[in-house]
Amino acid sequence: MYQIKYSVWDERRFPGFRQKLVQLEQVSKQAFYASHGDPNEEKYIDRVLHYLEDYYVSLFQTKLVSKESYSYVLEQLKKMEVIKLFPKDERKYLAITYRYGLSVNPEPKTLRNLSEEDVAFMIAAHEFGHIINTEWHDKSLRYCNQLYSQTRVQGILQNMGLSDVGYLKDGFCLLDEGISQEVAEILTYDRKKQSRPLSEFRNNIEIFNYQPYKTNFNLYGEFQEPVARFARTLNFLHCSPQDSDDEVLTKLARQAFRGDLLDRIQMELEMKPDKMDNFVILLASLGRIKRSTYEKVGLTPGDRKNIVVNSYLSPLQKITDPYVKSGKSW
Ligand SMILES: [Zn+2]
Repeated sequence: MYQIKYSVWDERRFPGFRQKLVQLEQVSKQAFYASHGDPNEEKYIDRVLHYLEDYYVSLFQTKLVSKESYSYVLEQLKKMEVIKLFPKDERKYLAITYRYGLSVNPEPKTLRNLSEEDVAFMIAAHEFGHIINTEWHDKSLRYCNQLYSQTRVQGILQNMGLSDVGYLKDGFCLLDEGISQEVAEILTYDRKKQSRPLSEFRNNIEIFNYQPYKTNFNLYGEFQEPVARFARTLNFLHCSPQDSDDEVLTKLARQAFRGDLLDRIQMELEMKPDKMDNFVILLASLGRIKRSTYEKVGLTPGDRKNIVVNSYLSPLQKITDPYVKSGKSW
């Protein structure tokens, strides 16, 4: 029987959460034994469940979730169906979330100044973010089909050499990635009672050629600046050019965890239709970056010879530079 970590999960304030934790343990362990997992690794499922409790508590403590959004976030997390461990011969990836099912690698490695424990929590926290984002993310896929039915939108994508609605959908995937990792980074350092590292320049030669990218993420750093730049153009987030990428991403995450990020984007575009062309260009550029990074690691099949995305950074930079205090960083 799963040992609940916190005593706060009473039915009145957090309906169904305690029961969900117990049920997730049962379902996940059944799946674990059905797949003939190593009995020594069984306890990793409990560890992930403890991280889920930590995650939910920390969302309040860090004020990433407001009082009004407690129950929204709880309802999303309660949709989680199973926690699986990757089999021993398939541990190339850290974790994968497919809709409400989560698969993790139970062999976390140290990373920069993060211990194995920090990394294990960060990876799980990132995936919990995806679970919370699934609802609006699903809706975004339908919205992309709607956008792509417009000849004008198809024309913009064709001009970019991206004649495929999938690039718009992948753009929303990148937002989901940026949000999930920003929250995971905040909570990991909050747990360690340390401040987050300063941004630095790093290289990903296969994707960005020799153009360094700026980030203070420990994982998925390539996504941070493109997603922050995109978010800066959304008026309803009220970003100022003085805001750091972290501050911008935190605003984006708070909106997403209220559940109305997509609604707000749609509303803004309806009220300001002149923003639509740039919106499509930005979203597709994010989508191209996402597609390349996934092709690089083999998560998406594709031509690995054609994954350099520098040409898509230029429009992203040109459109968003007025929203960034220091302008150019690529
Ligand atoms: Zn992810």
